[in-house]
Amino acid sequence: MSKGPTESHPGKDTEDRPGSAIDRRSFLASGAAAVAIADAPAAQAAEAAAWDRETDVVVIGAGAGGLVAAIAAREKGASVLIVEKNFDIGGRAMMSFGGLYIGGGNRLQKAKGVEDSPDREFADWSRPEKPMGRFSDRALVRTWADNTLELFDWLEKNGIKWDSYRGVPDRLDRNRTRLNVVRWPNEPTTPARGSGFVRPLEKTARQMGIEILLQQQMTKIHRESPLAGRVTGIATVEVDDWFKPKTRTMNIKARKGVIIATGGSAGNPVFRTMFDVRLTEEYQAENSEWTERTGDGEIAAMEIGAALGATACQTTQDDNLITKGRMGKKSNGAITELYPTSPHFFRARALGLVVKDYQNVILVKENGLRFYDETATTRDYEYYAAALAWTGDPRKFNGGGPIWAIFDADAVAREEWDVKPPHVDPNGYFFTADTIEELAAKIVNEYQWRPMSGAALRKSVERYNSFVDAGVDADFKKPRPMHKIARPPFYAAWHTPALHDSYTGVRINTSAQVIDLHGKVIPGLYACGDSAGGFGQHGICRAATFGRIAGFHAAAQAS
Ligand SMILES: Cc1cc2nc3c(=O)[nH]c(=O)nc-3n(C[C@H](O)[C@H](O)[C@H](O)COP(=O)(O)OP(=O)(O)OC[C@H]3O[C@@H](n4cnc5c(N)ncnc54)[C@H](O)[C@@H]3O)c2cc1C
Repeated sequence: MSKGPTESHPGKDTEDRPGSAIDRRSFLASGAAAVAIADAPAAQAAEAAAWDRETDVVVIGAGAGGLVAAIAAREKGASVLIVEKNFDIGGRAMMSFGGLYIGGGNRLQKAKGVEDSPDREFADWSRPEKPMGRFSDRALVRTWADNTLELFDWLEKNGIKWDSYRGVPDRLDRNRTRLNVVRWPNEPTTPARGSGFVRPLEKTARQMGIEILLQQQMTKIHRESPLAGRVTGIATVEVDDWFKPKTRTMNIKARKGVIIATGGSAGNPVFRTMFDVRLTEEYQAENSEWTERTGDGEIAAMEIGAALGATACQTTQDDNLITKGRMGKKSNGAITELYPTSPHFFRARALGLVVKDYQNVILVKENGLRFYDETATTRDYEYYAAALAWTGDPRKFNGGGPIWAIFDADAVAREEWDVKPPHVDPNGYFFTADTIEELAAKIVNEYQWRPMSGAALRKSVERYNSFVDAGVDADFKKPRPMHKIARPPFYAAWHTPALHDSYTGVRINTSAQVIDLHGKVIPGLYACGDSAGGFGQHGICRAATFGRIAGFHAAAQAS
């Protein structure tokens, strides 16, 4: 092995924190991780032959973390280029609820009489009785807590308008610090509040002269040699509206640094099954109509030696790992929606139906059998465990298979659902029939790996209807089953749980520098947001905190 990068590029921020949390043994044991490194293309060893573009800092991804990182680097005098895979900026943050965990005792908290301080924030998020507190790297939690007050002012300065705190004022509770942004006025793509975070930052970034190259996918991070030396830039390929590579490629030199802000790995079944082998391909990443979350940043960084950080956060079965969300569409977890007129709607294909009352549906697996109390909340991890359990068929050992909501015409009336496009996707994600057997036979879907038995579905419906008569669910203890599934037409809507956040990614230090498998900094490489590991906090504030730190730090490097 050649001389480590830290030795060749000493610097005051090259801490490697040997005591911080990394499950190194399980990472090395992971076949997929080993393959990712072993398969690194030979071409990667070479310095890019020719640079097509050159800038101080390259940011990969124009979502929550990337926009903040870019503005921070530009503010400190660096020239900045953002490459973004989509044809619009925003990432998943665009479709988010736009509520940040940001407190520390700022002016809005004071006005409401809320007691807060960085110490309190740190205490909230490092409590060992909470899974994310137990498994997060406390050095990163502390960094987040110590930065929130400054970040609040900085975001405001860069265009963010705050709405209101959601939380309970007095409790030592993270909701105390959950502050909503104001939705961007007249946003044409989505009614989601998250536009109020990314659109103002986009405006600021463009005003500062930051160039955003859309439909450019980073495919590789260049380093002086495969596992040593500075990061020198990236390779990109132009992609079409479906994120499919076209032919035009580019090498972009980064004189000071490359910042990974690619939004996590929830949409990559190979990557996510490193952590949970049950999360096979039928589980969709929520909001994949806006961003795929294929772990591009993590994989490119691992190919040049990066480690992962605090991977236990990914398997805590806590917080927003997986959700029930909308049904009748493929990326079904999305609780927020697009407008049907949105330029992104073609990827979503439907708005999906919100189930107000789970008394109106039963949920069956791909074998036509119920498996749990349908009224379970979205945070009930026993529900997901039951959904993900082996069906007993040796043709598919891992993953539970698709989940379908089954209901009848009376349920449609009670819920006031419109069961036509654009509300549902009849192309494999929503079916209608006059009998239960016909309904089962109609369920043909890319992930329905065996036909659903009409007899099994009929039996499930009849048994459930008998529970309605008896007032007791003898199988799964659904509280007092209320409504029979009896009046045709009958419906089947895709309702497989969807994957929400990524809670691990590449290992970073408190300067957002990426750490390699030997605990050394990879000079010139940074990460933030859902692609950075170490701190299992949901969402935008974690992305913004480490994006800002990454931007400042990268801009301060020598060219
Ligand atoms: C329904 C919903 C509600 C949510 N509500 C909240 C909330 O209220 N509060 C909160 O804090 N968080 C919320 N979140 C989570 C929050 O949106 C994410 O945690 C946050 O956006 C992560 O920021 P990021 O920068 O890591 O990724 P993103 O914002 O997703 O940005 C990543 C960007 O990188 C781009 N990209 C990926 N790969 C490449 C590549 N190879 N080359 C170039 N570009 C690439 C993507 O296209 C994307 O634009 C919510 C999410 C959803 C889906």
